[in-house]
Amino acid sequence: MMPTTELPSISLLKAVILISFMNTETKYNKHLEDEASKKNKELDSYRNTTTKRHIETPSVRQQEPPRLGSRQVLPPHGNNRKRYASVVAATAETKHKALVRSKINQTPEMIKYQLKSKVNPTEIKVGITSLKMLRDGRLMIEASSKQEIKALGNKIEETCGAELEVSIQKRRNPRMVLLGIPEDITMENIETTLAKQNPELDIKEGDIRAKFSYTTKRETKSLVIEVDSGTQKKLIQTRIKLGWTICRVDDYIVAKRCFRCSRFNHNFRDCRGEETCPLCTGSLKLRDCTATKSEYKCINCLTYNRHHQTTQIDTAHSSLDKSCPSLIAVIEKYKRNTDY
Ligand SMILES: [Zn+2]
Ligand SMILES: [Zn+2]
Ligand SMILES: [Zn+2]
Repeated sequence: MMPTTELPSISLLKAVILISFMNTETKYNKHLEDEASKKNKELDSYRNTTTKRHIETPSVRQQEPPRLGSRQVLPPHGNNRKRYASVVAATAETKHKALVRSKINQTPEMIKYQLKSKVNPTEIKVGITSLKMLRDGRLMIEASSKQEIKALGNKIEETCGAELEVSIQKRRNPRMVLLGIPEDITMENIETTLAKQNPELDIKEGDIRAKFSYTTKRETKSLVIEVDSGTQKKLIQTRIKLGWTICRVDDYIVAKRCFRCSRFNHNFRDCRGEETCPLCTGSLKLRDCTATKSEYKCINCLTYNRHHQTTQIDTAHSSLDKSCPSLIAVIEKYKRNTDY
């Protein structure tokens, strides 16, 4: 067996990424999954194998693993390919949004005027980073912290509650994966076992919500939990004790990719795109692809370039490549929308 090393990439993104090809459970999908898994094995052999440790495929479905045909891969590391994720990240910091709607049919301009005359952000120590009028008549306000946007929301309700309605946009709770847990740890006992055996973490009832567990092809069991941002911070810095085992905890980040068109953020069932080979962008199925590595092309990065003439990125890779700039951007976006 190959020696495994702690990779810098783990701390880089602090993430285990799940590439989900789709979300359905039909036999056809299973077939596609097998096809993909075959191809992925071939692809893996091309790749830098130092990241093998986390390349695992959940093979046994237990409880309610929601994504069939999913693969865990490590974030990319050590390549010099130009990533537009870094470009995106520089301008798109975490934002906290509030949406303001008029209860009495005011236009966004009127909402804005009313807010400006009644709410003074300085007074409540809120820095507004952006104010946008939406087409649907609402006004979107952004601030850089959860506390600020909350304070602003409260102030608006207090002063303009009769005319305006505020909704604070909720970010999703972080998900984490507990890797290599003992067989007898289940969805039902994970919370109490974790709390009892790791008292230093001060885990309270309700802090950990088990989502699903799965067995990897190396026959190790992992379990995915949902936590709040406070618990995430406690867990990410530590290894936890479960039974006789010490388990590693990672962030669990999902990038959904469609099997049919190879695009992100939807699955096969919702696909309105065209059949696109993930390796060569041809209109054929992965199993029929004969492209060699030098012919690989990424449909997502090609699309990006088409829309961003001034920041061209590398496209000579398969769209299954874990260092694909488009994949990295999807992951970054997922992280920004999560309450870390
Ligand atoms: Zn699609
Ligand atoms: Zn192809
Ligand atoms: Zn790409």
